[in-house]
Amino acid sequence: MKFAVYGRISRDRVGAGLGVERQIADCRELVRALSGEVAAVFRDDDISAYSGKHRPGYEALLEAIKNREVDAVAVWHQDRLLRRTIDLENYIEVCQPLNVATHTVKAGQLDLTTPAGRAVAKTLAAWASYEVETSTDRVKAAKLQAAKAGKSSGGNRAYGWLQNGMEQHPDEAPVVREIIKRFISGDSWNSIALDLNERNIPTAKGKMWTAINVSNVAQLPRHYGFRSHNGQEYKAAWEPLLSQDTREDLLLAIKRGQAIHGKRTYARKHLLTGFIFCGVCGNKMSIINAQQRDGSYSPAFNCRKKDHRGQEVGCGKVKRKKDPVEDLVIDCIMYRLDTPELGELLAGGEAETPELKQLMRDHESQSQRLQEILSLYSTGEMDFNEYKVAKTTAQDRLEALGRELERKTSKRTVANIPAGQTVREAWEKSDLMWKRQLVDALIEKVLIYPKQPGDGKARYKQWIFNPDRVEIRWKA
Ligand SMILES: [Zn+2]
Repeated sequence: MKFAVYGRISRDRVGAGLGVERQIADCRELVRALSGEVAAVFRDDDISAYSGKHRPGYEALLEAIKNREVDAVAVWHQDRLLRRTIDLENYIEVCQPLNVATHTVKAGQLDLTTPAGRAVAKTLAAWASYEVETSTDRVKAAKLQAAKAGKSSGGNRAYGWLQNGMEQHPDEAPVVREIIKRFISGDSWNSIALDLNERNIPTAKGKMWTAINVSNVAQLPRHYGFRSHNGQEYKAAWEPLLSQDTREDLLLAIKRGQAIHGKRTYARKHLLTGFIFCGVCGNKMSIINAQQRDGSYSPAFNCRKKDHRGQEVGCGKVKRKKDPVEDLVIDCIMYRLDTPELGELLAGGEAETPELKQLMRDHESQSQRLQEILSLYSTGEMDFNEYKVAKTTAQDRLEALGRELERKTSKRTVANIPAGQTVREAWEKSDLMWKRQLVDALIEKVLIYPKQPGDGKARYKQWIFNPDRVEIRWKA
């Protein structure tokens, strides 16, 4: 008798932990005991016979039977061969006309030639199907139950949390808080990703951050005390990392960003972003949150060596605290504004059109509106939902006005100092947009040079800072 031996490994109960090689060795033993010879060996690795996935080894076995290359089949258990009743029907159809017998290590001969034998085989297959189906149901039910109980779903570790899913990660949880706080206050996902990479803070998988990663981490329901299951959210059993209000604010900020720039966020919150360049390589410097000696973070201009794709963009040799640079530039502007040349430059701008005046008035009143909304909410005259709607509407309007103003006035000076105000007073009273326009009117670029020996002793106002390492290139 020429035997075909078939082995299959999968994660199911019968034969669990039994490797294909072991199954095949047992089958060879069986064939020897039956005084047969092994003519062919077929195997499938880790493919469940139930899932209906294509099983190349099994297909080849059927071919070998049809071609009369074998007279009998040896398997470890019927489960290995057939789990679905439909498989069995098919198998019987192939084997019966050729009188091919099937022997199993565990249960003896599977007699498919008599009605009684086939009934046994069918019953076995039916039970196997039943077991798989109920175990799938059991798994589903158990998962839903775990979700309702708010238990962690297991799987990959979420950033900010320990593997058990219940406790916060001591180093990562503060990063999660930082990410969300910064996005709400106007940073873009991209700038946060760049900054985390700059600070050598890796993702949960030890990789570099991308804008998408950062956005995904910020929006994980688990931070806010929820766990999701099949698109539903359930109250989690763990302590939330952040409040529900923070989540609302985040959603609002995301919505705002999407309304303005597709998926990107409108983030221009620093006076000198875009004006500062590296004195060594000429790279435009970006703003990062640099860690101070006391462990806190404060913004700094930084020449990035590589962008987030790893492409070289700069020398990476220059970094300077933002605040003293900004103060220095403002002081210089105030000083320069007193000179006749600058007065002429400013006066040389086109006169404001009525339309522009109206825009600026609208912008101003919209800013006030936003302040009002905030005070109404803080005094309890507005509930959170009303506040959300009002705030979004006002912010959207304000930002739309801001963009329109910036577009209309981009190449022109708007630094008209109102009568009776000094430049300094006008500066203090104006918003960031006005200030940036003034900077744009006056300054071509600001270059920052590397520190030199002795700079540690240099003082500028409250900072350890040497103004000589900053060069302002004026437009006039
Ligand atoms: Zn550089």
